Amino acid sequence: MTMDIKNPIQANLNRVMQRIAAAAERSGRDPKSVHLVAVGKTQSAGAIDAAISAGAQIIGENYIQEARRKFDALMHHPIQWHFIGHLQSNKAKYAVRLFDLIHSVDSTKLMAELNKQAGKIAKIQDILIQVNISGETTKSGIDDRRAIDLAKDAAQFEHIRLCGLMTMPPLFNAPEQVRPFFSQLRQLRQTMAADLDRDLPHLSMGMTGDFEVAIEEGATLVRVGTALFGERQ
Ligand SMILES: *Cc1c(COP(=O)(O)O)cnc(C)c1O
Repeated sequence: MTMDIKNPIQANLNRVMQRIAAAAERSGRDPKSVHLVAVGKTQSAGAIDAAISAGAQIIGENYIQEARRKFDALMHHPIQWHFIGHLQSNKAKYAVRLFDLIHSVDSTKLMAELNKQAGKIAKIQDILIQVNISGETTKSGIDDRRAIDLAKDAAQFEHIRLCGLMTMPPLFNAPEQVRPFFSQLRQLRQTMAADLDRDLPHLSMGMTGDFEVAIEEGATLVRVGTALFGERQ
């Protein structure tokens, strides 16, 4: 394996892309069906610029303020911006202006506000519903039984397009322990797509510690920070 001392982000990204491709092939999937979301929270615009130069095509951000700063510095790049953090309704206005896909919609109230704000700028906002598969009370996301009702609500908002589901499983040491949560999200998507009678193309699941297992379970968007940029401060 070649090591690039001067640009660790390039070397890290190459390695992550290889691991994504290997996990996809192992599970009989086309590697192109899995997209890397490079998670830039706490990282400088310079570090994200380096990731983009290295080939990252989607940047994920958790905080609106932080994303606005970086967006100004990096808006000349033809990349996608995804919002992956907890979104408050009063920030919906900024979210629809900055982000191509919002992964973390978990209430009808938030959906209604996104619809309203997207309408103002004549945009159809792509979203995912964040599902709290594990049922932990500390986690954001709607519980899986109510997720279907929320998905049905999405259909009545003309400036919202539901594209799939996202989850954050509990933190375990071994990636194999999170497999059941990923598999449950895949099954929920299947039930939901049948109920709504439409395709839900995306499953956003898997982070640095478990993205290969997530790909084996059907992830189309993996959200990776640490493996690209190193430990956060
Ligand atoms: C920080 C974060 C990630 C990336 O986590 P790593 O373990 O650093 O890869 C992914 N998804 C969400 C929602 C995050 O907040």
